[in-house]
Amino acid sequence: MAKTIIEPFRIKSVEPIRWTTRQERGQLLLSAHYNLFQLPAEDVLIDLLTDSGTGAMSTKQWAAIMVGDESYAGSKSFDHFRDSIQDIFGYRHVIPTHQGRAAERILFSVMCKKDDVVPNNTHFDTTRANVEFVGAEAVDLVIAEGKQPSLVHPFKGNMDVEALENLIQRVGRERIPLVMITVTNNSGGGQPVSMANVRQVSAVCRRHRIPLYFDACRFAENAYFIKLREPGYALKSPKQIAREMFAYGDGCTMSAKKDGLANIGGFLCTNDDLLAQQEKNLLILTEGYPTYGGLAGRDLEAIAVGVQEALEEDYLRYRIASTAYLGTHIAAQGVPIVQPPGGHAIYLDARAFLPHIPPAQFPGVALAAELYLEGGIRSVEIGSLMFGGAAKMDLVRLAIPRRVYTQSHIDYVVEVILEVWKKRDSIQGLKLTYEAPFLRHFTARLEPVEQAVLHAV
Ligand SMILES: *Cc1c(COP(=O)(O)O)cnc(C)c1O
Repeated sequence: MAKTIIEPFRIKSVEPIRWTTRQERGQLLLSAHYNLFQLPAEDVLIDLLTDSGTGAMSTKQWAAIMVGDESYAGSKSFDHFRDSIQDIFGYRHVIPTHQGRAAERILFSVMCKKDDVVPNNTHFDTTRANVEFVGAEAVDLVIAEGKQPSLVHPFKGNMDVEALENLIQRVGRERIPLVMITVTNNSGGGQPVSMANVRQVSAVCRRHRIPLYFDACRFAENAYFIKLREPGYALKSPKQIAREMFAYGDGCTMSAKKDGLANIGGFLCTNDDLLAQQEKNLLILTEGYPTYGGLAGRDLEAIAVGVQEALEEDYLRYRIASTAYLGTHIAAQGVPIVQPPGGHAIYLDARAFLPHIPPAQFPGVALAAELYLEGGIRSVEIGSLMFGGAAKMDLVRLAIPRRVYTQSHIDYVVEVILEVWKKRDSIQGLKLTYEAPFLRHFTARLEPVEQAVLHAV
């Protein structure tokens, strides 16, 4: 079979992207105070800020949108949504929400109380915030290998099963209302969790009668990694793998903006009738009636088709290969990245890329700004600006939107990164000129340190 990665689709509708000159980008960077969140999106050539809600929909999804039933109650679109989700996830109750964090808020409000403890391989930031909002403690139990950026391991998202057992012994099962597994492990670099690990965690949970829930945002990408890497799964379809995985749990939360291949939406699933009733009551209070949950009927239709398309093998082969291609081609030239490439993003290790810039001068922000200046690429810092002094790493995430960019776009990104790699010694650190009291990375303003010194003289 030919080795070239090709998109398993042809393009029927195009959206132009705008070239800017280097000089314009320099000005735009100044106006944005070196914070790429502040850039107008139309001045970005390749936008790798996030893979959330940025995917391209298929002809079948657009067709489904036209048959959306906008009835307030009992919408036919809800039946399509529920049937499609149950076909994959297998859970008894399917509750639509406007996005993943709404499903999280409802789940933790109903299941957790003050001083409870929720273990996860790694909580995503909204997941952690929603656990903490109800006064519970969010504990991350990813395996030791998952914390070493340069180490290659097939399932760096796995949960440390012994640590889970120890935690249950220490705090008691009464304080642990549920255990969660995030697939793939977004905050840990988009790394997958193996079926063997899911099985082991599930066995521990069942033994202690603790429900197991999945944060299922990238369930299809995780299923494909299992097919590629775990013995015994090569001949199974991604859907068979996903069904097996979900059967080890009792429910899930989901952001349809990821592997739902939709621009908005999410859902919450459970097998527990009593919980489902409580969740629906809360849903009515803040999201909407249980047959729409804050979404339009057309959104439910787009998600019903999207979750199925996300499991198509041709799509997943292209998706995972294309992300890996970006990672391996820059790593081959010495660019330090989190290894191995994850499913939805490549993470540059900015501390290793720019060893002359101390963490206090935001090497990740400086590198992201330089990638924009060099080639109009927008990425996001995950490091000292986002987490302050608590940041253990300074990473730059290049998240790949689903079905949006072609192989030549990826080749272009590789070229730009290698250009920046060549001139890395000339990149300067940055200093803050404004910061908000919380979530400062969205609105922070920065300037180059050298300029600051000049001002001071
Ligand atoms: C995106 C994401 C969420 C939250 O979903 P939203 O739709 O953005 O609210 C939760 N968990 C993980 C792992 C995610 O990637």
